[in-house]
Amino acid sequence: MVNLPQMEYQRRQMLEPLKGLENITTDGVRVRLCANIATQPDIALAQENDADGVGLMRSEFIYLENMAPPAEEEQLEIYRFAVESFPGKRVVIRTMDLQSDKQLPYLYQTKENNPALGIRGVRFAMTYQNLLRTQLRAILQASAFGKAAIMFPMIVSEQEVRALKGILQEEMALLKKNQIPFDPEIEVGVMIETPAAALMSDRLAKEVDFFSIGTNDLTQYTLAADRQNPQMEPFYEPQHPAVLRMIAITVKNAHAAGKWVGICGELACDHTLLPLFLTLGVDELSVPPAFILSVRQYIRQMDLSKSKQKALEMIL
Ligand code: PEP
Ligand code: MG
Repeated sequence: MVNLPQMEYQRRQMLEPLKGLENITTDGVRVRLCANIATQPDIALAQENDADGVGLMRSEFIYLENMAPPAEEEQLEIYRFAVESFPGKRVVIRTMDLQSDKQLPYLYQTKENNPALGIRGVRFAMTYQNLLRTQLRAILQASAFGKAAIMFPMIVSEQEVRALKGILQEEMALLKKNQIPFDPEIEVGVMIETPAAALMSDRLAKEVDFFSIGTNDLTQYTLAADRQNPQMEPFYEPQHPAVLRMIAITVKNAHAAGKWVGICGELACDHTLLPLFLTLGVDELSVPPAFILSVRQYIRQMDLSKSKQKALEMIL
């Protein structure tokens, strides 16, 4: 047993009985509770904490660790291990969300004054398209071994999504031609983490299978408050009604198109907002593995019929 500080040890002991239980309110409202993961140790933590799957696998580390671009086989091994670790459960793999504040030794990247407003997320992926194509082929091949899903970050328009889906189709055709197995029905989703994406979510919903709301960036871009600048802390307010309204719009538009919607930003752990998220009908919350059981505990103590009205007042 690792020598944990006494309080942390007691906290874990207290949450232990929640393993194997449903994420259901006292009045019968259910939600999936998944894990945000990056590297391999997170997978074990997610399993240990009884995750319903992976709502966000951040793939950036694969690009940051090496002096050369990660090979297709190397990536396939990483994604395959992830999907095989959650049999029957979905593992959402987000394509690389890189930006110019992290210079990669194997690329020529222009330095930018505002990297968060620059070549980031799918803009990066489209600029260095060969890296994206390799990653997509690796994820597709992993989909033959479990329930993988692909998610694109930093989307602002449906044109972008169509272009990305076009590239995905081309890579699928290539694998098919070479008789390499993959799941042709693999789900494709986008992150809603810009105000543009939230406001256009009615149109985006027609293009994809699911949304995942990234509240960390949605807060930064909605409130014009740099999430990495400690001086901006008083202005970086994820509970701001403007952010909550963006979430409400997104959930409504996803459901109107018959698509599922999750939240994978840090706000998903905020228990004061759980009544709002469940009232809106959010289908999935994806949180760091260590928070899964405490969020489950809050959900299981909640009577939504009593807290609904007050929760909705937050977005009035
Ligand atoms: C987010 O923006 O909320 C998110 C989950 O993505 P990341 O924190 O990796 O930018
Ligand atoms: Mg983000």
